[in-house]
Amino acid sequence: MRLILLGPPGSGKGTQAQRLVQQYGIVQLSTGDMLRAAVAAQTPIGLKAKDIMAAGGLVPDEVVVGIIADRIEQPDAANGFILDGFPRTVPQAEALDALLKQKQMNLDAVIELRVNEGVLLERVERRAAETRARGEAVRADDTPEVLTKRLHSYRDQTEPLIHYYSDHRMLATVDGMMPIEEVTEEIGRILAAVGKTSGSRAAKKASPAKRSGKAASKAPAKKAAKKAGKAAKKAPKAAKSAKKAAKAAPKKAAKTVKKAAKKASKAAAKATKGTRKTSAKSAKKRSKG
Ligand code: AMP
Repeated sequence: MRLILLGPPGSGKGTQAQRLVQQYGIVQLSTGDMLRAAVAAQTPIGLKAKDIMAAGGLVPDEVVVGIIADRIEQPDAANGFILDGFPRTVPQAEALDALLKQKQMNLDAVIELRVNEGVLLERVERRAAETRARGEAVRADDTPEVLTKRLHSYRDQTEPLIHYYSDHRMLATVDGMMPIEEVTEEIGRILAAVGKTSGSRAAKKASPAKRSGKAASKAPAKKAAKKAGKAAKKAPKAAKSAKKAAKAAPKKAAKTVKKAAKKASKAAAKATKGTRKTSAKSAKKRSKG
């Protein structure tokens, strides 16, 4: 699974990314973390980035694109990755598209964490206090002054990505004001709807593997029912969760997700129907499940 987490500083991208790492066994690629490591190690990139970061500006596109290009090729990223803090500009997003195409990789989802700006300062201050309490060094850019600049950078240069990915039918928006656990659940539902559940074969069979829904529409009902076997039992449940996620998705992305949910629901119905035909007795059992 490959996904992007979008959101302003303090929106919870890092927290959610860490949870997804645990859940899906993929790596979190945070350009902010990588740049901070480069600054600490005083590498040429670090020396270039240090002042820009301290002032709340954005490091040049070619620098971060170069970092990501190298990073996604590492063996630990083979299973998938979460991009946290990248891309941050439209040119970075375009460069990422080209990069993924070149490497024959595809992106599964772009999830925006939407929050009220008013809470961001409070959240960032809390993060700084918690870091201090752990005896760790507080980020130089976690101050009210720099945060204001980082928010400006986000509004001017990163927010256009919401339209970019929405136009590409990749965007799903989650209310980042909800409790952490609920945000995680919501993200899980969205990922399930795009056919990327962590291990459920049933959901994989029932919901289209791709956003386009091609995978589901390819399988004729009988064949699907035969193949699905036990999975058909769980299929309506998966379709239900896909529908739920479609409901939760933003209006623009909802179209895409809804389409997938509709197809999943159809596939589930067909699968159940096909199985019923094969064995009325077992079908009765299945419809109960
Ligand atoms: P973050 O940890 O994501 O908040 O990033 C901290 C700082 O690193 C940002 O304020 C930027 O100065 C820099 N940075 C991180 N990612 C990027 C990026 N994709 N493009 C440009 N600058 C970045």
